[in-house]
Amino acid sequence: MAKTALITGVTGQDGAYLSKFLLEKGYNVYGLVARRASDSLWRLRYLNVLDDIKIINGDILDLSSLTRVLEASKADEVYNLAAQSFVGASWQQPVLTTQVTGFSVVNVLEAVRLVNDKIKFYQASTSEMFGKTSETIQCENTVFHPRSPYGVAKLFGHYITINYRESFGIFASAGILFNHESPLRGIEFVTRKVTDAAARIKYGKQSKLYLGNIDAQRDWGYAKDYVEAMYLMLQQDKPDDYVIATGKTSTVREMCRIAFSYVGLDYNDYVETDPKLFRPAEVERLLGNPKKAKEKFGWEAKTPMKELIELMVEADLERVKNNKREF
Ligand code: NDP
Ligand code: GDP
Repeated sequence: MAKTALITGVTGQDGAYLSKFLLEKGYNVYGLVARRASDSLWRLRYLNVLDDIKIINGDILDLSSLTRVLEASKADEVYNLAAQSFVGASWQQPVLTTQVTGFSVVNVLEAVRLVNDKIKFYQASTSEMFGKTSETIQCENTVFHPRSPYGVAKLFGHYITINYRESFGIFASAGILFNHESPLRGIEFVTRKVTDAAARIKYGKQSKLYLGNIDAQRDWGYAKDYVEAMYLMLQQDKPDDYVIATGKTSTVREMCRIAFSYVGLDYNDYVETDPKLFRPAEVERLLGNPKKAKEKFGWEAKTPMKELIELMVEADLERVKNNKREF
């Protein structure tokens, strides 16, 4: 019989790619969608999956929404992706971020425990939990030192996931995913900000690109590759935590060079730094070791950073050409 998955955060980047991936595997896919005054479904349309997903309205902060959606969907697997996911905004909205990104995780776990404790649960943990790390390469056992309200909230989500596994025997796994991007990435994140700007500058619709710390280093992978790892974690015999990363790191500067040179431009002529875009506490460098995921279930990143940035620029060129700005 076909399995059923519930995705919270289904309208986000990963929610869209995961929906497509699970639908292709024959799953029934339910998505929890928070009520918004304006359209939040564009990513599901972009991947042409909107008609195949059963949307249930509800909010991650509302326990009754979650019990209702679990009862209605009879989900076998829950992928908890909903969050206020932008680090930069987490200093402006620390209380909201703590609630939506941290506290809500216990809501979902409680709903699972109350409705059906056999449901398998995936938590979207993050490399931001490592923050100011002294390890040159981070793995599942690296000590955490989060640097933003977002990182702190995610650390709560991570530990409460482990706690429900240890306390109640719930099949609860956490994927510690390093940055992953795609043409569906929100425009506030640096990769999409850069690929959008490269396309707009190429078409004469923008003249400069203002960035913060361009020496920051990230381990960037492709979201489409990463959602498969989420699924694989829930197919294992036992719940566990896994780092998902490419194992390579690069600077924001190098990412700019790739994006601009793809459209025949030199980033030095367009990129300027703006002190207002520097963060109160920066995560200077992230580099993940995905060895455990490779050994346990054969996952590895397929798309190198250069290819990823180029496919993002390509998608943004298409959008700008057609006068279609999707954020
Ligand atoms: P997005 O920001 O693209 O998506 C976040 C999702 O959460 C959206 O669907 C959003 O809905 C939803 N959401 C926000 N608040 C609520 C709420 N109160 N109730 C219900 N839904 C809500 O994130 P990504 O897809 O990039 O990331 C998915 C998850 O993985 C997030 O938890 C993120 O923190 C985490 N993560 C992401 C990484 C990355 O590099 N992308 C790295 C590591 C972890 P709406 O569209 O209505 O706003
Ligand atoms: P994060 O790793 O989840 O915070 O993802 P982001 O894409 O938001 O940021 C990645 C890195 O790029 C961080 O170190 C930022 O400080 C750096 N960065 C430099 N300029 C910018 C900018 O203009 N916007 C964003 N979002 N990040 C920037």
